[in-house]
Amino acid sequence: MPTHDDSSSPVPADPSAPTQRSAEEELVEARMRLAAVVETSDDAIVTKTLDGVIRTWNRGAERIFGYRAEDIVGQPIQRLLPPDRIEEETDILNQLQRGERVDHFETRRVRNDGRVIDVSVTISPLRDASGRVVGASKIARDITDRVRAVEKVRFLADASAALAELSDYESTLQRIAGLSVPAFSDWCWVDMQGPDGAIRRLAVAHSNPERVNFVRDLWRRFPAHESDPRGPMAVMRAGRPVWAPEVNDEVLARFAHDDEHLRAIRSLGLRSFVCVPLKSRTGAIGAVTFMTAESGRAYQLDDLHAAEDLAHRAVITIENSRLLAELKESDRRKDEFLAVLAHELRNPLAPIRNATQVLRAKAPPIPELLWARDVIDRQVSQLTRLVDDLLDVSRIAQGKLELRKQRVALSTVVNDAVEAVRPLVAKWGHQLTVDIPSETVLVEGDASRLAQVLLNLLDNAAKYTDQGGSIRLSAKREGDEVVIRVADNGIGIPPDMLRRIFEMFMQVDRSLERTREGLGIGLTLVERLVALHGGTISANSAGPGTGTEFVVRLPAIGADAAGAAVDRELGDTPVPRGGLRVLVVDDNQDSADSLAMLLRLGNHEVRTANDGAAALGADASFLPDVLVLDIGLPKLNGYEVARRIRAQRGRRPVLVAMTGWGQQEDRRRSSDAGFDHHMTKPIDFHALKAILAGVAASHPPSAGP
Ligand code: ADP
Repeated sequence: MPTHDDSSSPVPADPSAPTQRSAEEELVEARMRLAAVVETSDDAIVTKTLDGVIRTWNRGAERIFGYRAEDIVGQPIQRLLPPDRIEEETDILNQLQRGERVDHFETRRVRNDGRVIDVSVTISPLRDASGRVVGASKIARDITDRVRAVEKVRFLADASAALAELSDYESTLQRIAGLSVPAFSDWCWVDMQGPDGAIRRLAVAHSNPERVNFVRDLWRRFPAHESDPRGPMAVMRAGRPVWAPEVNDEVLARFAHDDEHLRAIRSLGLRSFVCVPLKSRTGAIGAVTFMTAESGRAYQLDDLHAAEDLAHRAVITIENSRLLAELKESDRRKDEFLAVLAHELRNPLAPIRNATQVLRAKAPPIPELLWARDVIDRQVSQLTRLVDDLLDVSRIAQGKLELRKQRVALSTVVNDAVEAVRPLVAKWGHQLTVDIPSETVLVEGDASRLAQVLLNLLDNAAKYTDQGGSIRLSAKREGDEVVIRVADNGIGIPPDMLRRIFEMFMQVDRSLERTREGLGIGLTLVERLVALHGGTISANSAGPGTGTEFVVRLPAIGADAAGAAVDRELGDTPVPRGGLRVLVVDDNQDSADSLAMLLRLGNHEVRTANDGAAALGADASFLPDVLVLDIGLPKLNGYEVARRIRAQRGRRPVLVAMTGWGQQEDRRRSSDAGFDHHMTKPIDFHALKAILAGVAASHPPSAGP
């Protein structure tokens, strides 16, 4: 077997040897020793000419690259290079021409069986007696196992990181399958069994997408069955892994459904596999199969253990993410339920409120009657606020609350809130002081929502402070922020509850003796509304009995924009003297009747209808100036009624939508259907009166049918 070629020998003859014969003998001996070292080396030691032709090839090279010396000597070295590294040889030869050594670089080479291996290579120039570079010697060491071990560790670390993310388990398993190629396998698939017993191939990973499609197609044509004696189904059933260090044709034949299937599986070129079950507490829910093919890697026992460990952790993630999904789902259903509940609770409030207005206008001044009316009035207001808060919280939770933002003067917001809380403050005999800057301070926000925030805080301060307490609201600009403080000298809050009171339904004192009414959602709403305005809220208290301070921080707007402040005035609008013809349409008879009665008190001529068809009939005969139309009507809904009336009577009458839904989208829909105004239930009677006054002023009431 040719191991060395004299022309490229690295050991030139020594001309100064003492005796010709003994020097020659020594030289021969030295060469033989050297040849023996080269021959027995585990590393591949190869020499080549400067144009890349292999000249010598030791046993180590035979072992590492698979070629016998007689087959490869005389061949170009490029035969050992994978297609993506052909350029590498040109660079190496250039370096050698310059007489430079190429030290320990790690690269890849191809064996005669097509397997790609990792090697560490050192290449040195070979010179002739005159010192001219005539070729190169190359020492290559197979480092595939070391590289694989590093890649495996990296893969397991990446897979653990993916599992820790706790996103949905399907995409996590798909990611893990993807990460395993080529670090741990050439092929990976994940099969999951659904609650109905059906098997789904959740992931197939390979470096070549066409091959992935091939396997997916194969899976469709030869689907797994629960009773399969081998493969993922058998692993799931037994709950034990299967490991094949070497796959031969006999093994493949056992997996194949028929000859065609066998041919297809053969074409995958599988060499080794491990298949591990995904075992939950209730049994196996799936299986992960790692396979090798072109890498030629044979799975060892520690690979099986690594795969089992990974499967174990994957199941924990799957169970956690299922739990999380269930929690999210029940949370979503709760939000939906709250939204529907609040919406339904609102409906009966409208007629009750209208009825008290009627009593206010018409009831005889009997003290007991007036007292009863005021009780109903107050309780309805309280109930309306609770229901509104509930509705708002559920809207925020569903991402459906929209802010109508504009530049608002802080003083407007504070005044609105203070006015609204006055009755409660008076009832408790508290002293309320307000300290706000005299210059205009502006914030970008929804005026009524910001007032709602302050009102909730003031309301709490009044509720959670014993009779005759003091409450102080102060606001000022601090740097880029507007800081609003609501402080009381009331019952205080224990330190461990200072953060928790912002959680939904959280109340410090749930005892039955508790006299202060509430649902425990006010502060949740406040915190979320403040966050929607880009602000923060915190609570301070030195503990029970020491009072509480809430601090709201909102982004401020530069004072130069003061001119843009919008001041709102919600004064009472005078009732038109002539009166209009108004048609009130609502399927809730009480609602329609009570609103009608209120409007009649304002000199308007009013009729009612309780469904869409009746509304159209009444419109045609009564020719109202204004229709106040509920949207959710039987027979024809409010949108449809509006559209038909617009089609028949043009711009007149004025159409007012009356609905439980007040989102931007709802407003857009009602305006598209032809409505002029959109009011949410229970409707604000002052606002309705203002609309009627506007109609009366812009066109005198019509003469009637
Ligand atoms: P509610 O007042 O309806 O119970 P909130 O969400 O407004 O609900 O408040 C949650 C809890 O925070 C209250 O039940 C009360 O225990 C506590 N809390 C709120 N404001 C104050 C305050 N100013 N002083 C003392 N405790 C307060």
